[in-house]
Amino acid sequence: MRKLVLVPTPIGHLADVTLRALEVLKEAEVVACEDTRRTAKLLRHYGIATPLVRVDQHTLDRAERLLEEHAYVAYASDAGTPGISDPGAELVARALARGFRVEVLPGPTAFVPALVASGLPTARFVFEGFLPTGRARRPRLEALRREARTVVLYEAPHRLERTLSDLLAIYGPDHPVALARELSKKHEEIWRGRLEEALARFRKPRGEFVIVLGPRELPEDRPDAAALAAELAAEGLG
Ligand code: SAM
Repeated sequence: MRKLVLVPTPIGHLADVTLRALEVLKEAEVVACEDTRRTAKLLRHYGIATPLVRVDQHTLDRAERLLEEHAYVAYASDAGTPGISDPGAELVARALARGFRVEVLPGPTAFVPALVASGLPTARFVFEGFLPTGRARRPRLEALRREARTVVLYEAPHRLERTLSDLLAIYGPDHPVALARELSKKHEEIWRGRLEEALARFRKPRGEFVIVLGPRELPEDRPDAAALAAELAAEGLG
């Protein structure tokens, strides 16, 4: 059966790749990847000569063609686990719709080390990826007002300041936050503090960031049984 294997790749440190990932990159007939230069560097480092074909969010059809033409295709995104805030998920959906076997290797991703290093509760969390930048942004931020779990966000450096200031408006200046910058790279930093301090500290920041926000204390955290029952009923859960 023809198969697509999604291969997680390092988010910074070239040694953060599993033995199985290297095996798949070596054995696949072709490696589809978001950025051929970036993936070529990884393959060169490990002496792997499998041909690379660029497949990004604009060229997903090319990946479908590769799957038709080859029995064994590996896919690597820019960094981390394909499918987490990158074109991998769309590719999986297309491959499944065509009856392909899809395997996903466990491996590096940015949000897990950021969440765990944040020092904030990890028992219940929600991954929001990148906040939308257009009209969907306001409702998404509004939804966070009701979020009682730890929240994990990705953000590009040139939008970090704006996002921290929007979050401050939702959560207030004293809300606990952690910023994981340049994970597994030379200038890795885990900053922990309050939202107001974060905004002052990360003006015109550089590098890659994960934002982790502590859980909000909502009324249902201190249950007033009647109020909670009413709320659950309103949501059709009572
Ligand atoms: N697929 C990736 C994963 O599994 O984490 C995420 C890809 S997404 C396009 C890129 C975002 O991930 C960055 O904007 C940043 O928020 C986060 N990220 C990736 N590498 C990182 C690193 N080394 N340190 C901190 N954040 C990182």
